[in-house]
Amino acid sequence: MAEVKTAQKQARSEWHYHPDLPIGNNPLFEFPWSARKIIAYHRDYWLTLSEVSFFLILALAGWYFHQSIITTGSEFSFGFAAQIYVRNLLITIVVAGGLHYALYARKAQDKETKYIAAFLHRGGGKFTFGNQLYDNMFFSLASGVTIWSAYEAGLIWLLSTNKIATLSFGDAPIWFAAILLVTGIWIAFHFYIVHRLLHWGVLYDWVHSLHHRNVNVGPWSGISMHPIEHMLYFSSLLIHLVIPSHPIHIMFHGYMLALSAVIGHTGFHELLVGKSRRIALGHFHHQLHHRYFECNYGSVDFPMDVWFGTFHDGTSEAKNRLKKRFRSG
Ligand SMILES: [Zn+2]
Ligand SMILES: [Zn+2]
Repeated sequence: MAEVKTAQKQARSEWHYHPDLPIGNNPLFEFPWSARKIIAYHRDYWLTLSEVSFFLILALAGWYFHQSIITTGSEFSFGFAAQIYVRNLLITIVVAGGLHYALYARKAQDKETKYIAAFLHRGGGKFTFGNQLYDNMFFSLASGVTIWSAYEAGLIWLLSTNKIATLSFGDAPIWFAAILLVTGIWIAFHFYIVHRLLHWGVLYDWVHSLHHRNVNVGPWSGISMHPIEHMLYFSSLLIHLVIPSHPIHIMFHGYMLALSAVIGHTGFHELLVGKSRRIALGHFHHQLHHRYFECNYGSVDFPMDVWFGTFHDGTSEAKNRLKKRFRSG
């Protein structure tokens, strides 16, 4: 208990706000299993007003609105691809723009649950257009949404024309639900590998450094990446070429990649709604990556960082371990 208190005290001097430390990972991968922790984790993940339940609703709505085109598609139609692009563009503008407006422009909750006291970077020397917000919006919308939508439109077209294996809810409801359940784990696995690669030599200098211009992040930083990084990051969706899927899986997977990154980069841990409600926003795990770089390449959904010795749990012990790794490396 005393150790936990010391860790909290040291971290307090580094952050304006941080969650309880050390941060944990998906309890499904912590042994011995604790049924209570596993149930609580998955309940908060799926059955509350969480980002994942929001993405599922969006995917179901997307299916409903595109249904007529999806079920009758034979020729690849640019009209259909354009519909997907416009939907993703509008949703990104509403989610990233809405969070930016509420938390940064209006400062609706001031600095409450904000990891870093300052609101974005001052001065814009390192940013395109000399401004962090314009830089982030440009790369998110011009490149991010375009590449995400291209993957999505291509895969849904392949599904609707039976060029890849399709799965319907009626035929295999358990398998249908299982794919949704493991999407986050697959993303964390894929992201860890791609992200570690992006921290290597020229790939970092030429590609990934663009995302790392942002040390103090905001909602628009989430998918502000170099186009090559977008191609690698959204290539997670290509798993649907080999796993029989439904368009709902592909849309859900796309939102998990794009919007989870937007929400996870708000720089705030929680959104305060009214007097007592709090909705989880930021991923402190990834906020640590933006400060310390060579740690936390994946996410807490699947603890690759723990297994590969790159996990930073937010405590000063973890920081010292990271320093030692660099000295010996
Ligand atoms: Zn990031
Ligand atoms: Zn990185």
